[in-house]
Amino acid sequence: MGVQENLAAIKAKLPPRCTLVAVTKTHPVERIMQVYDAGHKVFGENKVQEMLSKAEVIPGDAQWHLIGHLQTNKVKHIVSFVDLIHGVDSIKLLEEINKQAAKINRVVNCLLQIHIAEEESKFGFSEEELDYLIDAYSPEKFPFVKIQGLMGMATLTENEDQIRKEFRTLRKHYEEIREKNIDGLNFEILSMGMSADYQIAIEEGSTMVRVGSAIFGERNYH
Ligand SMILES: *Cc1c(COP(=O)(O)O)cnc(C)c1O
Repeated sequence: MGVQENLAAIKAKLPPRCTLVAVTKTHPVERIMQVYDAGHKVFGENKVQEMLSKAEVIPGDAQWHLIGHLQTNKVKHIVSFVDLIHGVDSIKLLEEINKQAAKINRVVNCLLQIHIAEEESKFGFSEEELDYLIDAYSPEKFPFVKIQGLMGMATLTENEDQIRKEFRTLRKHYEEIREKNIDGLNFEILSMGMSADYQIAIEEGSTMVRVGSAIFGERNYH
């Protein structure tokens, strides 16, 4: 199937509450334009440099989400146009985003990445760190950051029960924080689900899925 057929097939499976982020990493602009021409405008990249070069050539009404790990020294390159930073995984990064955003007087949308997978390698706050951050949160600390919700990645496994359990944990934290009604925290985004597990993520309450290979095909790393 072509890129546009893949896109349509995935969109047909998404409930209205759920936004699709088309993950374009490693894929050339021509293929991204096929998705854009089909009317889809929300894209995700995991590397700053790749996002910058693609955002330069894709028409300006496209939205760019940074979904991967973000180094503090690269924040300044993206604050002016990024629509959502999914992978905020330290207070230091939050402070840097706030600082760079303040310089241009722009409020930047962010999600807190929570470590839910078994693998050591995945980034994110632990559940304890999340509790600490939320308890200590006050909107005056980060006036140029809008924390809109949580993001997480499940373990890479065939075990659906495990994936479901991990998504459930993330959802639980998301709902708990929402119920606290903390001043300045308007949680409305739960970013979970990729090509292999987005259908489970939807069943577990995802409001944003990040899908790459199921749209564009396998990635060629070079
Ligand atoms: C690459 C990536 C995705 C998409 O992965 P696919 O398996 O190709 O759908 C989603 N989220 C993050 C953080 C990624 O790096």
